[in-house]
Amino acid sequence: METFESERAPLPRNMIENSMFEEEPDVVDLAKESPSYPIDSDDAVYEPRSSRLLVRGLGENDLDEDEEDYESSARLLGMSFMNRSSNQRNVASSYTRQQYSESCLKPSTKTTVVGVLILVLVASMIMVIYFLPGCTFTRKGCKKSNSTMDSIYPISTSGEPFPWTELRLPPSVYPVHYNISLHPNLTLMTFQGSVSILVQVLNETKNIVLHSSDMNISKVTFEGKEVHVLEYKPWQQIAIKFPEDLKKGQYVLNINYTAQLSNSYDGFYNSSYVDTNGTKRVLAATQFEPLAARKAFPCFDEPAFKSNFTIKLTRERKYISLSNMPKVKTTDLKNGLQEDEFGKSVKMSTYLVAFIVAEFIGVSNNVSKTKVSVYAVPDKKDQVQYALDTACKLLEFYNTFFEYDYPLSKLDLVAIPDFLAGAMENWGLITFRETTLLVGSNSSSIDKQLVTSVIAHELAHQWFGNLVTMRWWNDLWLNEGFATYMQYMSIETVFPELDMDTEFLNVRFKALTKDALNSSHPVSTVVSTPEQVEEMFDSVSYEKGASILLMLNATLTDGEFRKGVIEYLQKYNLSNTESEYLWDSLSQVSKQNLSVSKMMNTWTVHKGFPLVTVERKGTQVTLTQEHFLLNAENSTDDRLQYIIRSHSSLWHIPLTYVNDSCSVPSSCKQVFHLKDKTATLNLPDQVKWLKFNFRSDGFYIVHYDEEGWKNLIDALKGDVTVLSCKDRAALINNIFALSRSGKVSFRDVLNLMEYIRNETQTAPLTEALFQLGQIFRLLDKRSEFNLASRMTSYIDDHFGSLMESQSWDLESSVSEMTLRSALLEMACSLNIRNCSTQAKHLFDQWFISNKTFQIPSDLMRTVFKVAAQTDEGWGKLLDIYKHSINDQEKRKTLEALASTQDIRKIIWILQRSLDGSVIQTQEFPLVINAICKNFAGYLYAWDFVKENWDKITQKFPVGSFAIQSIIMSATSQFSTKTRLTETQNFFTSLGTNGSQMRIVQEAIETIKLNMRWMEKNLNALQKWL
Ligand SMILES: [Zn+2]
Repeated sequence: METFESERAPLPRNMIENSMFEEEPDVVDLAKESPSYPIDSDDAVYEPRSSRLLVRGLGENDLDEDEEDYESSARLLGMSFMNRSSNQRNVASSYTRQQYSESCLKPSTKTTVVGVLILVLVASMIMVIYFLPGCTFTRKGCKKSNSTMDSIYPISTSGEPFPWTELRLPPSVYPVHYNISLHPNLTLMTFQGSVSILVQVLNETKNIVLHSSDMNISKVTFEGKEVHVLEYKPWQQIAIKFPEDLKKGQYVLNINYTAQLSNSYDGFYNSSYVDTNGTKRVLAATQFEPLAARKAFPCFDEPAFKSNFTIKLTRERKYISLSNMPKVKTTDLKNGLQEDEFGKSVKMSTYLVAFIVAEFIGVSNNVSKTKVSVYAVPDKKDQVQYALDTACKLLEFYNTFFEYDYPLSKLDLVAIPDFLAGAMENWGLITFRETTLLVGSNSSSIDKQLVTSVIAHELAHQWFGNLVTMRWWNDLWLNEGFATYMQYMSIETVFPELDMDTEFLNVRFKALTKDALNSSHPVSTVVSTPEQVEEMFDSVSYEKGASILLMLNATLTDGEFRKGVIEYLQKYNLSNTESEYLWDSLSQVSKQNLSVSKMMNTWTVHKGFPLVTVERKGTQVTLTQEHFLLNAENSTDDRLQYIIRSHSSLWHIPLTYVNDSCSVPSSCKQVFHLKDKTATLNLPDQVKWLKFNFRSDGFYIVHYDEEGWKNLIDALKGDVTVLSCKDRAALINNIFALSRSGKVSFRDVLNLMEYIRNETQTAPLTEALFQLGQIFRLLDKRSEFNLASRMTSYIDDHFGSLMESQSWDLESSVSEMTLRSALLEMACSLNIRNCSTQAKHLFDQWFISNKTFQIPSDLMRTVFKVAAQTDEGWGKLLDIYKHSINDQEKRKTLEALASTQDIRKIIWILQRSLDGSVIQTQEFPLVINAICKNFAGYLYAWDFVKENWDKITQKFPVGSFAIQSIIMSATSQFSTKTRLTETQNFFTSLGTNGSQMRIVQEAIETIKLNMRWMEKNLNALQKWL
């Protein structure tokens, strides 16, 4: 699966001039029913509150923190209603989410005592159920039956004991083949299903346990005889109990059921869109990864239960149906319906099953023995050709690279109008967002870069994930890290003009940032609960996974990496693996006497990454490694320090370096394997300077002694080309990280940045802009307007002439476009260098010409954001948003709409994107992200998230990447104690509906880091900026 995050480099919009509300806004009661569009009139309903959200000129930090009373200051800031909904949080399992309203009556003492006793009793029973077996959530270790446990089982829906006590299914019964018949009714939004599962009993057992969720099961037969089924809803399991042990052998289990087509984005869900004639069209599609196949048909829904599937779909004649395999037959049924039958699938995991019933049309081409097709809604049929050509080229590449041909005779790529992830790699039927598959006639190479990336990622999954699958979700990185790495590698080879190299470098920086937090986790992590499974779809699995594979490939020589991968695929095709299997295959081909397994385990088993400190005395270089943790220093908590020290890890680092005599070509690279805490490297000759981590191919950061930094900076000031642009970008990235951790002062950061006036390359410039933009936003959100203004001057001073020299014309290279869009977005948001005037001019020309005059696609968002700041411009953009049939243009328009500083409009967008009217709910995370970039709306957005938490988690699963994105967008710019307390209180109040998420720890940690950075640097910034 490809997650869909908003882009990495959100640039600030200057709020200095506009930060004081032109009109003091009344606080809007978010809980009230929203005004229906339009906003342009005065009829938008507002609920003035007695308190103002922000008092003109009074920023949060004007409060004395010592005297700060949380309640009163929160009230002053209009936040007193922040926990209003917390009392209503349900405490049911996140699986069931049963609603109950808590009474507000104050209980008597007696009631309280009785209540506490009951709670203690219930808690004890739960403890007994969960902990007595000692292995409730593990697969291993439960082999011996525990006679004392026989009677302690969960209670099924019917009141009888449910015969299984674990989240993972028992291994005694294995599915061999599924026959699935489904009839979705797109008028009633329901479906009828019947599944016949041929099961193999591996060990004698009295029970068959499998998954099923949200279904009305009408009839179950086993070997043709009707049997009774038990259901335990919290774990989404059903079971059939037999009076006698089932002997080893094969049996047939039949289940008939009905269910609703889901309204969220997983399971078998309904989706709709309005065509260009204004007619509403409906369709049904699937998204099963990770845990939603069980919502479409009862099944053994774990990746290791691979099986064959034969699928039949009943539909009306106007629709087509698609599934993983080619259609083998269509039968006419009564009532004008038709039934499509698809060929028997290859052996695969349940999460890869897929089917669609829709009015799509497609185009096709053949690659070797495979028919490749791209499908979309009819209105967008002229936007599919690019994807088809790209998919064909990449399929050819992978067939050759893996020396293993894609095994199916067809491969469909389908653009779904309503889709949450970026894309999903279902075997033979890959589903995409429209944005990640369709390319319009005026799309730029940057738009194509996104589409190509996602296609390359999903195609790589056909081998990594589909053919060879991780055994359990703890090793999700084997799927995602590999697909992410292959996406960059394949595009660099097949489409070098797309400049994926720089993109991959940014991805590594992003992964480093996240992994430097104490709340991060090892690449391979124990997971049990559904929320933990959802949380694995994060930067560590994808981006760190890809980064450590790059580091390994850069360490191995002579194509050993590819050889090892080919061997791994040959050996484990159609089966399941763990990380170790991959390392073993790579160790076997390595001629360097390198134990890949030993080295790589240090990168997958420990969380975080090392900081390498380099100290040089003449030709002797002392190298030291330590776990780089942003919060490790300055902690006064001895216990925390102890925990950090005792968990500190050693990595096997294939440390690379270059020096002043040879520093840019690959042949200059030298390698030193640092395995211990400290080591000494003796240089053969005297050198002026050393730069470690060549091209930032390794997943670590480097700190030099004072002399080391000075020599590097001096060298760059003399001639920037003494280092590759990736090395220059890495120096910038590393010094900002070191400053954040407190290891260097901000003065040192500015020292390095002095060289930037001579810089012309995309990677270092965009990294510098990203880092400075982040600091600007923190200052801005703290209402440190004076400092923010000085930061603006600093950026103007260092980047201004480059900003001015950018062209606003159509198309240049991807690298040039990436650079100019970053520079101009920054310039327009800071309102410097005449950028806004130019953007406004372009927008007017475009609008007047009825879009025949083109705005370069890479500048569209910048231009639209400027236009969105007036009522007139905003109205025009809303109209464009509603009628555009180009999804990429639409998303840029939406980001611009959300960049408005008009609170009424912000509220309206928030409400419309959550309820899915006008703005699709799939865009809600993007909307939150875009609003939170600006001063005007970020507190409203945060309030909105809190007020609507239950609604949000009904749409997006707890722990999912959408929820991760929403939380980080809303909270990552807080830097005060008030906000910290408030954030902690809110998440604590969620109980089982989110308080345990790792992303919550990450959010809290980020706020604390921001606070510490501000504390340390505010005064320094006054002096230095
Ligand atoms: Zn993926």
